[in-house]
Amino acid sequence: MLIRKLFRFENAHIVRNCSSDRCKRSIHGHSYQVEVLLEAHALDNGQMVYDFGLMKDDIRNLIDAFDHAVAFWDEDDADYIAACKQFSARWIALPVSPSAEQFSRMFFTLIDRALSLTDMANGEQDVALHSVIVHETATGYAQCFRADIDNPRIGPVDMQRVVFSEQVISEWSDTTLWQRLLRGKRKHNPRVEQQVISNR
Ligand SMILES: [Zn+2]
Repeated sequence: MLIRKLFRFENAHIVRNCSSDRCKRSIHGHSYQVEVLLEAHALDNGQMVYDFGLMKDDIRNLIDAFDHAVAFWDEDDADYIAACKQFSARWIALPVSPSAEQFSRMFFTLIDRALSLTDMANGEQDVALHSVIVHETATGYAQCFRADIDNPRIGPVDMQRVVFSEQVISEWSDTTLWQRLLRGKRKHNPRVEQQVISNR
């Protein structure tokens, strides 16, 4: 069974080397929508795949980091990167170009990492990230599956190279989030008191 939660954010970028002149030569923004699809073949004690409310923590913080921010490829022109940092308090340096395709791979990588480091506490059994869809516009999206992460033809997504600006980090509900994910520190979901014990 699949569940899907939708997130939104506004972000500015340039996509170098693409065919569209407007996209590759001018800073511009998009109203992104991100669909996070989780899969499980059993239900938790709440008879859910995974409580949507639990996705408002690390997963939401990771996506919200990109809101009202500029995202740039860390191999872009040094003057451009310096200007992004100078004139935008909220920025993210990425090891890949900020195309919808790479955004979907980036979010898959970050969310998969967060989920894998989460100790679930309400009877969840095999919750896994199925895919991430990133809508860059109202008509165009990219969808990343697990097979798209470890694909040498697409290249790596090096989490170690992702840098969030101080302003982004300071606005997270948990300012240790990124260090926690990089260091592989586990996090426990809150315990849930069972109100009904089913006999069937
Ligand atoms: Zn664009």
